[in-house]
Amino acid sequence: MTVNLYDYVASVPDYPEKGVIFRDILPLMADGEAFKQATDEIAAFAREQGVDMVVGPESRGFIVGCPVAFELGVGFAAARKKGKLPRPAVSASYTLEYGSATLQMENDAIKPGQKVLIVDDLLATGGTISATIDLVEQMGGEVVGCAFLIDLKDLNGRERLKGYKIKTLMEF
Ligand code: 5GP
Repeated sequence: MTVNLYDYVASVPDYPEKGVIFRDILPLMADGEAFKQATDEIAAFAREQGVDMVVGPESRGFIVGCPVAFELGVGFAAARKKGKLPRPAVSASYTLEYGSATLQMENDAIKPGQKVLIVDDLLATGGTISATIDLVEQMGGEVVGCAFLIDLKDLNGRERLKGYKIKTLMEF
């Protein structure tokens, strides 16, 4: 039996600011059946690509990506916000509505030639994932796909990620 994943996304108006509808995915994580179904669907996409490693950006990318890696029996590598890693790291910056942000990965997290799936909860403008792709490619990894629970279609993230295989489970 399958569940309707849309039933497990809470849409919160005017958060974090007026006029924005925040899509809260924590109710989906809180339901064992829905969480497993979403994980299975992303893992099936990953199997089609042949994946050696899963990478997720901080912090909801960890929650969505880790069970996928576990299910595939491959490793998980974290892309962290700047300044949190104890060992030498590669960096990539991206612009936010106000200012910019930097993601980092430890510079031996991906081996050259490894096939990488990048996972996050939600695709909006694609800035976060473009930076994550940059990190993986700096280390010589091959990004074979990007998977998200949610695509905010109007923000055209897919356009920014043109050339990469994209899987999304829900669209708003
Ligand atoms: P982008 O970089 O594609 O513009 O934004 C995507 C990032 O912002 C993701 O890492 C995601 O966690 C976060 N994000 C932006 N809007 C939302 C939202 O409505 N719901 C959730 N769950 N995350 C969001």
